[in-house]
Amino acid sequence: MREFSRTFSPGTSELFWCEKCMLPLLSANCSICNSIGSRVPISPPGDVRLCSRGGRELLRELFEENYGYAHFLDGRMILLNKIAGIDRRDQVILDGSHIATVWFDITASCHKLDLETAGASLLSGHAKKNIVVCHDSLLKGHIKGKWLARDLIISPSADDLNEGENVVLKIGKFAGVGVVRQRADGSKSIRIKDVTQRDFQLGDHKSTLQETILANESHLKGLEKTALGEIKDYLSRSRLPVNVSFSGGKDSLASLILGRKVLTRIEVLFINTGLEFPETVEYVREFCRSQKLRLHEIKADGNSSENSLAEGSFFANVQNFGPPAKDFRWCCKTNKLGPMTSFLEQQYPKGCVTIEGRRIYESFNRSTIKAVERNPYVPTQTTLAPIRNWRALEVMLYIYWNKMEPNPLYEEDFERIGCWLCPASLQSEFAHLKKSHPKLHSQWTRHLRAWAEANHLEDRYIDWGFWRWKRHPPKMIEIAADNKIDLQARGRESKEIALHAVRGRSPCGLEYSIEATLTAPQNHPFQGVAGALSMLGQVKYAEDLGAVVIKTDYGRATAFANGHIMITAGKSEAEELLRRVSETILRVQMCTRCRICMKNCDQGAITVNDTITIDEERCNHCGKCAEGCIAADQAAKIFRRLSKKGAAP
Ligand code: SF4
Ligand code: SF4
Ligand SMILES: [Zn+2]
Repeated sequence: MREFSRTFSPGTSELFWCEKCMLPLLSANCSICNSIGSRVPISPPGDVRLCSRGGRELLRELFEENYGYAHFLDGRMILLNKIAGIDRRDQVILDGSHIATVWFDITASCHKLDLETAGASLLSGHAKKNIVVCHDSLLKGHIKGKWLARDLIISPSADDLNEGENVVLKIGKFAGVGVVRQRADGSKSIRIKDVTQRDFQLGDHKSTLQETILANESHLKGLEKTALGEIKDYLSRSRLPVNVSFSGGKDSLASLILGRKVLTRIEVLFINTGLEFPETVEYVREFCRSQKLRLHEIKADGNSSENSLAEGSFFANVQNFGPPAKDFRWCCKTNKLGPMTSFLEQQYPKGCVTIEGRRIYESFNRSTIKAVERNPYVPTQTTLAPIRNWRALEVMLYIYWNKMEPNPLYEEDFERIGCWLCPASLQSEFAHLKKSHPKLHSQWTRHLRAWAEANHLEDRYIDWGFWRWKRHPPKMIEIAADNKIDLQARGRESKEIALHAVRGRSPCGLEYSIEATLTAPQNHPFQGVAGALSMLGQVKYAEDLGAVVIKTDYGRATAFANGHIMITAGKSEAEELLRRVSETILRVQMCTRCRICMKNCDQGAITVNDTITIDEERCNHCGKCAEGCIAADQAAKIFRRLSKKGAAP
C-alpha cells in the first residue's frame, strides 16, 4: 500500500478479457476456451489485484451513496489497479472495463469515486441520484471538456447538485460523465468529462475465482516453471542452508510455496517487529504449525515471547526521534535490521540463502530487484527474488491455485501487510485502521498528538497524515498552503543539550545513513542555522518545511528545525558529517557575536550581526572561521561529550 505520487513502469503489464468465458486473463490466451482475449487498457505500473471483500463493500457504499444503485457489483469479480496519486487511487475494473477510479481525499478523510464513461453507460439506465438528462442536441460538435449549457439540461438543475460530484449524463443513446463545479457567483455548472455510446452491458455470467484460476492456468504454470528453475539453478551451486523470509504477506507466502516445492523441510524466518498486526502474528504462527514448517520468530526485543517490549522500545524511541517518516525511517534499523542481522549471524554463521517475496511493482525503490543479490547488511546472506516480476493478481491466483489461504487481513481491504503504524502507509489505511483496530489507532494518535503539540504543529498535521514525511512532496505542500497549515516543526525550547542517533544501512534504502536528533537551546531561528550550514557545503533551504539540505563532496545531510538530522554517506564520512553539522548548529546557537571569525575569514564570506551569515558565493568551506571561535570550541567539546555518552561510536 505504498504511496507513489509519480508514475513508474517497472515492466510491461498487460491485462486481457476473455469475451467468451467472461474472465480476466493475465496473458492473451484463455486456458479454458483457447481464444485470445481482448486487451484491457490499464495505467502503469499495472500491479492489478483482486478486490477484497472489504474493497467490494467500500465500492458498494460509494455507488449506493452517489448513484443510489450498486447491485450490479454483487457477485462479480472486481479488479483494482493502483495508479499514481498522493494517497489511495485505484482504477476499478469490472467485466474488462475501467468503470471508475476510487480515491481517498485526505482533507475530507473519506473515499471518493471518479466515474469513467463505461461506468456512466452502466449506470445511465439505473442510477437514482446524480443523473442529469440532457437534450440530444448536446451531441453536435466537440463537447469533451466543455461546460454544459443550462438550456440543454432537461433535469435536474445543476444548482441541485453538489460541488465536485461526478454525475451521469444521459443523452439519448449516449452516456457521459460530468463534474459539478461552483462558480464565483455561487451558481453551479457541469463540465463534461467525456461521452460514449450507451453500449456497455454486464454479461449474464458472473465469473468466479475458481474459473479465473482455470482460465489463467497455463500462465500460472509458466510463472511457476521460471521461478522454480531460478531457485533450483542457484541452489544447485550452493551448499549453504536455505530459508524463506515470511512476513505474513501474500508475496512472501507465494515464495514460501515455491521454496517448499524445492525443499520440503525449508526453514521460515519471520521478523516480529513488535508492531505487526495481531492477526499477522497469529496467521504466521498458525500457518507454520499447520504446514509443519520450522518457524524462527525473530523478535525486535530479543527473547520476549510477547510484543510489548519491542513496542515499548519503539515508543521510547519516538520520544527521542519523533515519529518515523517515509524519509526518516529510524524504525527500520531499530525494529528490523538489528534483530535480523544478529539472528542471521548467530543462526547461520557460515551464511545462508534466503528466498524472498520482493516485487518490482511494489515501489520505485524495488523496481531494480535482481534475481540473486547479496544482502548489503549481512554479506553472508544471499537473497533470491523468484517472484520479482509477478503482479499482485498473479501472486494471489498462484496462492489460491495452490489451495493456500492468504492472511485474512487482505479480505479486509488491507493491500500491504506490514507494521500497523508504518509511515509508508497511505492515509486511507490509517483511516481504515481507525475502524478495524481502534485501540491501536488511538494509541498511535496519542503519541503523534503529543509530539505535534511539543513541536507547535496543529491537529491537521496529524489527522491529514503530514507527519508521514519530513520533507513533504509538492502535492502535500500545496494542500497545506491551500488550507493554511504550517508545516514547520519547532522543537520544544530546551536548555539541555542531547544527541540521539541510530546508524547503519537501512533495509528500506541501501545506503549507510545516520538518523539523529540534536536537542539544543533555540537562541536563534532556524533560518540562521540553515544559513551557517553553507560553511560545510552547498545548501538548499526550504523555509516552509523548516529543512535544509547540505551537499558536500563526501555526503549529504538534511537538518530540520525540530532537531532531526539525517546523514547519507560512507560510514566514516557520515560520522564526520554528523560531527560537523552538529557542531555548526551548536555554534550558531552559542555564538557570542565577538566577530573573531570575520577577521579570520580571508574570503570575506562571514558576517555576524544578530546571527552568523555566510556568503555562499565566497565561502570555500576552509573552516578558518572556527579558529579562535569560542562557540565553535564549546560546540566541539559538547559533541565529544555527547559522543562518549553513546550517541556517536
Ligand atoms: S567567532 Fe564564533 S562566537 Fe565569535 S562571532 Fe564568530 S561565530 Fe560567533
Ligand atoms: S573562513 Fe570564510 S571561507 Fe572559510 S569556511 Fe569560514 S566563512 Fe567560509
Ligand atoms: Zn475463455
